[in-house]
Formats: sequence, C-alpha cells, structure tokens
Amino acid sequence: MMQKDTRKLIYDLDLPELEGILNSWGEPAYRARQIWNGLYQNMWQEPQEFTNLPKGLREKLTEHFTFSHLVPAAALESSDGETRKTLFRLPDQKAIEAVLMRYSDRRTLCISTQAGCAMGCVFCATGQMGFGRNLTSGEIVEQVLFYARLLRKQGEEVTNIVLMGMGEPLHNYEATMKAIDRLNDPQGLNLGARRFTVSTVGLVPAIRRFTAEKRQVNLAVSLHSVDDEHRSAMMPVNRRYSIEELLTACEEYVNQTHRRITFEWALIQDVNDSVDHARRLAIKLQRFVHHGSALCHVNVIPLNPTKAYSGKATTRQRALAFQAELERHGIPCTIRIRRGIDIQAGCGQLAADAG
Ligand code: SAH
Ligand code: SF4
Repeated sequence: MMQKDTRKLIYDLDLPELEGILNSWGEPAYRARQIWNGLYQNMWQEPQEFTNLPKGLREKLTEHFTFSHLVPAAALESSDGETRKTLFRLPDQKAIEAVLMRYSDRRTLCISTQAGCAMGCVFCATGQMGFGRNLTSGEIVEQVLFYARLLRKQGEEVTNIVLMGMGEPLHNYEATMKAIDRLNDPQGLNLGARRFTVSTVGLVPAIRRFTAEKRQVNLAVSLHSVDDEHRSAMMPVNRRYSIEELLTACEEYVNQTHRRITFEWALIQDVNDSVDHARRLAIKLQRFVHHGSALCHVNVIPLNPTKAYSGKATTRQRALAFQAELERHGIPCTIRIRRGIDIQAGCGQLAADAG
C-alpha cells in the first residue's frame, strides 16, 4: 500500500513561518530568504534546483515539505490558442482548474479557491457539482506558480489574477487572502494588489470584513438579478442576504475604499436580459453615482451553457441593447467577450465532469 504523504506544502508557509522553521533547525537567518527567493523569484519547483543551499538542508526540506500538490491531469487549448485550461488533481484526488487568458498584452489567470462550491447557483457548473473542500493558501498560490513558470519560458509574465475559477473565495476567506498576500509580497511574486479581482456571490459579512481590512484588491459582486424572489431562485445565498443588504455592503465598500466596484451579470435569454431589466438595474445602481460619475461598473457576459440548467445565452443584439440602456442611465457597462467556450473554460463551466 502506498504511504500517505503527510508533508506540508511549502507554499502554505508565509515568510515568518519559514524563518521560524529554519531557525528551529539551527540554520542562519538568511537561509529562509534564500529559499523564499528560490520559490517565488526563480520559481524553482524541485528541491534539487536549490543549488545555493547545502545538500543536507535540501534533503531536510524534502523530508519535511512537498513542493507540489497540483498534478496537471489534462490541458486544453482553445481553437484560437489564446485560452489555456489546466485540470489539476490534488493529493486527495479532488479536481480543480485554472485558466490562462491571453488578451493583447494582458496575461490573466482565472484561479480556483475551492474544489466545488457550496453556494449552489443553478446556472453554474461548479455549483451543480456541490462542495468538495477548501483549497489551502498554498494550493491557490501553486496554480499561479504553475502558469508563471510556463509564461516565463516564453519570456512573459502573469499580469492579472481573477479569483473566478471554482469556488466562492469569500467562503474560504483566510486562505484566499493569505494567498493574495503571498503573491503580492514584494520579495515574492510581487503582483500589485490592484491586479487581483476577487469575485463573490455576495456573502455580506465577508464583504464587510474585506472593506474593514482596506485591501487594495478589486471587488466584483455577482448580481444577475435585482428582484429578490428571482435572485433567490437562481442563487440560494440571496435567501440569507437580500439584494438591499448586499448593495448596502457594496456601498460601504465603495465609500470607504473609494474604489470602483464591479457587478457581474450573466445574460440569460428571456430571464434577465431585457431592456426593462437593464433599466431596473440602472435605477438600483444610482446610489453609486455621485456628481455624474459612477463608482461602479457592470460586466455582462452571455450565459455559458451548463449541463443541469436549461437557460440559454442572450443574443449579441440583446446584449448590446442591455448595455446601451445602462449607459443611458450613466452606468458604465462592458460586454465580456466569451472566451474558451470550445474548451469549457468559460465562467461557471470548470471541472464539473472531472469530479
Ligand atoms: N463564486 C464567485 C466566483 C466564481 S464564479 C462568484 O460567484 O462570483 C465567477 C463568475 O461566473 C460569477 O460572476 C458567476 O456568477 C459567473 N457564472 C457562473 N456560472 C456561469 C455561467 N454558466 N455563465 C456565465 N457566467 C457564469
Ligand atoms: Fe459558487 Fe460562484 Fe458558481 Fe455560485 S457562481 S455556485 S458562488 S462558483
């Protein structure tokens, strides 16, 4: 029988923790920093690559830590070559996915924070598969390292990170924020806070906590409806936190951080895609408009089809009319281009069949 690997994932540590461990091993203080640079600046993946460390220390690291939890099990590239999706297996055989999107000079990663999701939004493939478990901060970080290494080989680097893969980031708050901090660390990957976008289904207490922590990370809130009954039917979380409570928390976020908030709206044919829906949304969002400028922004995306939901994507024409109506009311709106549909890498389509 195979022995279970009980070693800790090295990316789960922050620098002070690593320093503490090295210190307890009687190593000089600078060793932790050397290892940190190796992990996050050189992006070394194997202990053997740390040739700047004495052999004995390398062996000790291998004995105590694993340098990878994510085993790439499948990779798919979209027909235009601009989107690449990787399916990873975790040590407990759960599957997660992370997607790289190339768009002009941006290299955006869409990463997962949980295996599955407990929120049960009916239109979402991840929601349809149910909750597996929270990822650790190291498992979140490792998705980024995987693509950062790949890009580096091509002389490129990660420019943006969206936490919009599998899972609800604010339902795994600690690990998500720890991962962002680690990726943000100037001595590590050094990705500026503003390059991150956390997308939430609308967990009000967690949004409040996020606001109080004054993080410089972008916030996106998945709205999809401004009618409580309708939203509750699509998104069970709305039974706990109503639209009014949610928008109040969003307003507090905007007022305290002075940062623009994004609302996401998946356009579903004849469900939430009419000009009248756009008008009602625009009216609800007027609270974010001050002196003619809006501290909010609506991102619409035509629904991506999923197995267990019969809703259809809106048409291009209706998406444009929806956008025009919002803008007529002073609410900026972009239509997100559908990317990677042919490899099921679009929003909400991740990993459902890999279980
Ligand atoms: N749990 C977070 C982040 C992951 S989902 C959240 O819900 O915000 C990322 C985005 O994809 C959300 O805006 C979500 O509503 C949207 N989404 C889910 N399923 C979708 C689908 N089938 N088509 C289009 N967007 C979808
Ligand atoms: Fe979870 Fe987001 Fe999917 Fe809802 S849309 S089930 S919160 S991943």
